[in-house]
Amino acid sequence: MKTILVTGGAGFIGSHVVRLFVNQYPDYKIINLDALTYAGNLENLKDIEDKPNYVFEKGDITDEAFIFHLFEKYDFDGVIHLAAESHVDRSISNPLEFLKTNIFGTVTLLNAAKDQWKENFEGKRFYHVSTDEVYGSVDDGGFFTEETSYDPQSPYSASKAGSDHFVRAYANTYGLPIVISNCSNNYGPNQFPEKLIPLFINNIRNNKALPVYGKGENIRDWLYVIDHATAIDLVYHKGRNKETYNIGGFNEWKNIDLIKVMCRTMDEKLGREAGTSEKLITYVKDRAGHDLRYAIDANKIMNELGWKPSLQFEEGISKTIDWYLDNEEWLKNVTSGAYQKYYDEMYKER
Ligand code: NAD
Repeated sequence: MKTILVTGGAGFIGSHVVRLFVNQYPDYKIINLDALTYAGNLENLKDIEDKPNYVFEKGDITDEAFIFHLFEKYDFDGVIHLAAESHVDRSISNPLEFLKTNIFGTVTLLNAAKDQWKENFEGKRFYHVSTDEVYGSVDDGGFFTEETSYDPQSPYSASKAGSDHFVRAYANTYGLPIVISNCSNNYGPNQFPEKLIPLFINNIRNNKALPVYGKGENIRDWLYVIDHATAIDLVYHKGRNKETYNIGGFNEWKNIDLIKVMCRTMDEKLGREAGTSEKLITYVKDRAGHDLRYAIDANKIMNELGWKPSLQFEEGISKTIDWYLDNEEWLKNVTSGAYQKYYDEMYKER
């Protein structure tokens, strides 16, 4: 019986990781630690909350006393660390919050793991789930590999880069067994509707403006969230100690082209006349420090661990739209209160 701590398991990607591990490994005990910030939502895990190998612990990764107590309570074999502040726009208005959660919180977990495991690292693993945004922008047509130098541009990516460096430093300095993955943009069910794809699905449905940064020329590589979860499973179990694995779908889209695909698909699904939703596109002032292009070279994880994405983008985006259309109640719940206030503030002057 292995006991694994998953942090941020009530969030978007974390909930898919928790579900996969709870269902796939009945002999593991999965402890989901989450502070339930605006982005954490236990509704995401309703279908597995009664499983005997699942436990939820509410708590903050920056609370040292609580984290050390948790490590003593459960004697974890491994940590899969996803808890983070994750929205670039929020990091621009509140960088310190990102420093606190993403760097201080990660180092707190590293300290607890180091202290709890120090006598014996055998069979232990600290896995940090990170982002391709640490590499900055790749504007010359190339790809980010695991050797690409870090060049973060936003407070969010700087905080993730800082936490990646701390994780490697704990391996080099204290011998902590670690692995890191850096993934491209995820999309799919359960994503908080401040991020591009769920925000635009929701706005198209409600005939609200679609605020596109700059000219919509920025390019992102999109991956279906369940394919990220299966990659995390592989990296956790088969990734080599101290290695980094880039995860991506070789699926690049200019924002504006992606938005037009969503508009067309939603016109069809909602029975609207072709071209109706595209009229909602509104160009707004570009995000400060906006990276032009992210593009992941995922060959290492594909060749070494045999991972590959299961879905083509058109199928993934259609499934995602269906999920949001079928789960109006979920959307209503997460778009009320705190989130609605934030959204109104962000977009009022645009
Ligand atoms: P999310 O914002 O949906 O979820 C984050 C979760 O962390 C939430 O449940 C939140 O309650 C929890 N959390 C935040 N602060 C906490 C704290 N101090 N203590 C405990 N829990 C806290 O984020 P996501 O999109 O699911 O991203 C998960 C991880 O994957 C992050 O580390 C992110 O950097 C990384 N990542 C995300 C993407 C993406 O496209 N979304 C891509 C690559 C990597």
